[in-house]
Amino acid sequence: MNVNDFDISHPMEAVLVSSERITPPDADAEVRHLVFQLPEGAFPYEEGQSVGVLVPGPHEFGSRHYMRLYSIASPRRGESGAPDSFSLCVRRCFFIDEISGERYPGKASHYLCDARPGARVQITGPYGLAFAPPSDPSANVLMVGVGTGIAPFRAFVKHIYDEQGGWTGKVRLFYGARTGTELLYMNDMRKDLSLYYTQDTFKAFEALSPRPHFDAPPALDRVLAKNSREIWDMIRDPKTYVYLAGSRLAAEKFDRAMIAASGTDQAWFRTRYDLVAQGRYAELLYD
Ligand SMILES: Cc1cc2nc3c(=O)[nH]c(=O)nc-3n(C[C@H](O)[C@H](O)[C@H](O)COP(=O)(O)OP(=O)(O)OC[C@H]3O[C@@H](n4cnc5c(N)ncnc54)[C@H](O)[C@@H]3O)c2cc1C
Repeated sequence: MNVNDFDISHPMEAVLVSSERITPPDADAEVRHLVFQLPEGAFPYEEGQSVGVLVPGPHEFGSRHYMRLYSIASPRRGESGAPDSFSLCVRRCFFIDEISGERYPGKASHYLCDARPGARVQITGPYGLAFAPPSDPSANVLMVGVGTGIAPFRAFVKHIYDEQGGWTGKVRLFYGARTGTELLYMNDMRKDLSLYYTQDTFKAFEALSPRPHFDAPPALDRVLAKNSREIWDMIRDPKTYVYLAGSRLAAEKFDRAMIAASGTDQAWFRTRYDLVAQGRYAELLYD
């Protein structure tokens, strides 16, 4: 789906309450956790949904709007339980022009990362994208992602344990990062997800790249391969729901691990087709 396909006709104003860098100052990547406040009852959302952020103009080529999507990182009852609030996890992006070799700042990510508390940001949505956690507390949840793909999973885990409670299904997170400090929400800067390590049903598998400058952590291959038997057994359980978020390369790595576990390309792609048909497989991939 193209960003132009989203309805942006009813934007609303969200006030930025806080903006916190969640990668250390010396880490290559700047990722920020931003918390927004909205008017009462104006923006009900659920985990897995995204918001559109409208960057103020003027814009090039005469376009009236410049919109980018960001996954909501909070569970449905709000950031830290504060009603009508939500958070985003935004990576400051740069792009290299292939012809001039120059480095350009990404518009929306810079706009958000530069915004200071009190800023008023036009947002649209929330948009569903068929990326929702199961409501049955005995369901198993398998999450695979890298980088800012952690945002919807932070919302899932907080909803499952803080809001819903009594979860008996297995909750498994396979998360890749380039370095330990870039393990978002599981590093020294913020420990949101590490807080759940004491839950009997929750297990997180961290995959750190031995080559910090690679975008898609090769370690994710190894962690997925090492645990492929458990993953494959989980997938064959009709109570398991599979989610992939972040880089497309993470999805390719997952496919490779599952091809190895299932025996053939055909066996895995057939299984994946069935999972999609049963509403038990969803992807939110964007770079
Ligand atoms: C459903 C969804 C959820 C998302 N969730 C998140 C999230 O939680 N966190 C997050 O950080 N991001 C998320 N993203 C990505 C986000 O929407 C933006 O794509 C990202 O922040 C970059 O946008 P930008 O405006 O900063 O960059 P842009 O300015 O839009 O640049 C984006 C693209 O334009 C090209 N480009 C731009 N300028 C140049 C240039 N001068 N020369 C050559 N090429 C150029 C690049 O190839 C690049 O791919 C999500 C995307 C989707 C679709």
